[in-house]
Amino acid sequence: MTLTPMMKQYMEMKEKYKDYILFFRLGDFYEMFFEDAKTAARELELVLTGRDCGLKERAPMCGIPYHAANSYVGRLINKGYKIAICEQLEDPALAKGLVKRGIIKLITPGTYTDSTFLEENKNNYIMCLYIDKNENSALCFADISTGEFDCTDTPFDLSIIMDEISKYSPKEILVQEDIESSLLSKIKEFFNGSITKLNMDYFSQNVEKILKGQFADFNPREYKIETMKCCSSLLKYIHETQKTNFSHINKLQYYNVIDYLLIDGNSRRNLEITESLRENKKKGSLLWVIDKTNTAMGGRKLRKWLEQPLMDRNKIIERLNSVEELSDDISYHEDLREALKNIYDVERLVGKISSKSVNARELNSLKNSIEKIPNVKSILSHFKTKLLENMYENLDELKDIWSLIDSSILENPSISLKEGNLIKEGYNSKIDELREVKTHGKDWIASLEQREREITKIKSLKIGYNKVFGYYIEVTKSNLSMVPEGRYIRKQTLSNAERYITPELKEMEDKILGAEDELISLEYNTFIDIRNAIEKEINRMQTSAEIIAQIDCLSSLAKVAVENNYCKPDITLSDKISIEEGRHPIVEKMIPSGEFISNNTNMDASENQLLLITGPNMAGKSTYMRQVALIVIMAQIGCFVPAKRASISICDKIFTRIGASDDLSSGKSTFMVEMWEVSNILKNATNRSLILLDEVGRGTSTYDGLSIAWSVIEYICKNNKLKSKTLFATHYHELTKLEGTISGVRNYCVSVKKVDNNIVFLRKIIKGGADKSYGIEVAKLAGLPEKVLKRAQEILDSLENEKSCDSVRSKNTFIKKSDEAENNNTLKNKKNIKLNRQLGFSDMEKEALIKEIKNIDILNMTPMDGFNKLYDIIKRVKSI
Ligand code: ATP
Repeated sequence: MTLTPMMKQYMEMKEKYKDYILFFRLGDFYEMFFEDAKTAARELELVLTGRDCGLKERAPMCGIPYHAANSYVGRLINKGYKIAICEQLEDPALAKGLVKRGIIKLITPGTYTDSTFLEENKNNYIMCLYIDKNENSALCFADISTGEFDCTDTPFDLSIIMDEISKYSPKEILVQEDIESSLLSKIKEFFNGSITKLNMDYFSQNVEKILKGQFADFNPREYKIETMKCCSSLLKYIHETQKTNFSHINKLQYYNVIDYLLIDGNSRRNLEITESLRENKKKGSLLWVIDKTNTAMGGRKLRKWLEQPLMDRNKIIERLNSVEELSDDISYHEDLREALKNIYDVERLVGKISSKSVNARELNSLKNSIEKIPNVKSILSHFKTKLLENMYENLDELKDIWSLIDSSILENPSISLKEGNLIKEGYNSKIDELREVKTHGKDWIASLEQREREITKIKSLKIGYNKVFGYYIEVTKSNLSMVPEGRYIRKQTLSNAERYITPELKEMEDKILGAEDELISLEYNTFIDIRNAIEKEINRMQTSAEIIAQIDCLSSLAKVAVENNYCKPDITLSDKISIEEGRHPIVEKMIPSGEFISNNTNMDASENQLLLITGPNMAGKSTYMRQVALIVIMAQIGCFVPAKRASISICDKIFTRIGASDDLSSGKSTFMVEMWEVSNILKNATNRSLILLDEVGRGTSTYDGLSIAWSVIEYICKNNKLKSKTLFATHYHELTKLEGTISGVRNYCVSVKKVDNNIVFLRKIIKGGADKSYGIEVAKLAGLPEKVLKRAQEILDSLENEKSCDSVRSKNTFIKKSDEAENNNTLKNKKNIKLNRQLGFSDMEKEALIKEIKNIDILNMTPMDGFNKLYDIIKRVKSI
């Protein structure tokens, strides 16, 4: 048995696009077959049917109506699938034999541009990574919906690649076919989006030609060869999948990774910069707090600012000055915010113009947005700071584009370009003429209907229209006897009516339909001309869109500065971070207003390099440490900060080791992940970095953990390559002894008060070390059963008093033999600081036993008592 010709055609197509779900156009449907059908039926909840394909078994099949394809495509793309659209390339009614079909577009997660499925305030990046034989690597990122195209290069360094991926969070990554499998597995460990391997030809063929063709001012001498290869491959992939050229991708923006504050992926998550840790949502993140933008473009830009804070002091100060000016002038600022409202997403509209998918309504949205620019510009003229003044000067009002759209496109045009009803009267005389014929013809038909009713006296006589018969006169059955003999030509008989035509009706019909067809195609062509004329001005529109986005960001920062009572930070090149009455920007929003307790911070590269923070659980150590990092990040994007006063020296990198981030899927234990993170920090931090370490060492036994924590502190403070400013929270109170011993270490603790048996958190960071951890009191707050709490207190007391474990064991119902005793570990000096092994349960038991044996007065015991004692000792030794 052989496949039917159509199935053969399908199979040939599928063979070329194995990784794609093939949407195969059959009449009004896109059909999917075999495995694709099963996948699509499962993912889209479609009914799985079958179709004869020439083989013994029917081919599994499912389908979707072509006009509803967008929503199905969006759903599949969001689930990470790629789709190949196969269209009929000729009219099936005119085709001889099998209809010609071909792939007209490949849709992938990184190239998808349907605005109904893209997140408004988030870019949709596709990335390419290239590494040459000499371990030079290049990365580039494009957002096809906005036209952004960024690139960078660096000697190969996995951590940099990971950081850039976490910064841009692309939807799809392109890699070379010969990528090392170990590297690919590592990328897959932290990136779960779509990865596409590109044939090596991509990286070698027509590299310069492709780049020159895309970027008018491209100069090959300005780029490294690996960067050019990387960028041209991405462009090639975009061309091949989208089957079109994009004129809005016209600026190749090179950046250097060291130009921006580096925040590794871990820290981005831990500090909840753009999404919350628990729910992965914007709510609860720093972006949520500071995003008061009024446009989608501003929203995306602010996210980008936050994802890459600046390191250039002048640029930061320029932003801060503008934010200050805006927040000082409430009246003009409010006007500005009002003017920004209702500006649509010009960047993405421009993208649609470039991809030729824009419709007339969207051109009107563009017009309505442009309409707001003069007002924005006139308000801007009142501001004097450098950035705002530059924006004022460079903001193009695009009046010509506004006039063109206003004079040509109807106020309420059709969505489809193939139905007419697009162009305004007066724009094109031929269109007006054809419309006149059409309307005149319709008036003529209305008068004919009137006339025939009068002549025949049939009141219900009507003239109707359908696509098959054209215009017809319809008379109901009950009135048929009144139709004069020979007046009409019978055309169709219905159950309750007859339909007729007359020669003059058909003549008019030809005129009307001819005019209508001509009108539709003329309106379409005129629309395309208008679109092409606007496309020529893409650069200007992009510049204005960029300025609007930036104004929106600055305005948002000014708004939150006023609303949240933030202060303008001093940005210095000194080595000091000094914050007076600092607050955590997110936590203060989550708790009732005014309840957040502010705290000071003073750090530098000498005496106050490492702040060792002790204090009870729940006291606010993590909150305090995070607040310092968030304030630094805010300052470096040009945002005011939650403090009374702040002076921030520019940081180059922020690292955090906070919380237990299990990575069980990659086979690493909690402790392993912790150590891996610490090692990454120690390798990459510099004396301009800020490090947050929260309870380093807690993932292992007390001795090991304490030793590691101790040694890490020494390394950070003593190693000249590091000397990073560090916040180190710990429950190992023994470490407080390092103050005065290791230069740079300063003890701080979070104060608490004990009232009766309850603990009251004061949330104030004060100098000095904490006396105890109040773990049991916090456990009480958490609702641990009374019995457990009571028993824990007993055990703690007995441990604290270094009592024999005998008494503990005698009541013990739940202590496991373990050397994991927390706290109470004594450190003894060896030349002042010597780390001794501390006493755990088993050590204490041994000690108690030895003591007991020493005290046995054998001479004064009966043989029976002696035997019993010996029996008891053996039993206990066995259980240690
Ligand atoms: P643990 O040692 O158990 O990890 P912690 O000392 O790190 O605890 P945090 O997690 O920082 O404690 O704080 C616990 C909670 O206390 C926070 O979720 C917050 O609601 C509240 N909190 C922390 N700091 C403050 C503050 N300065 N003002 C008001 N509330 C605070």
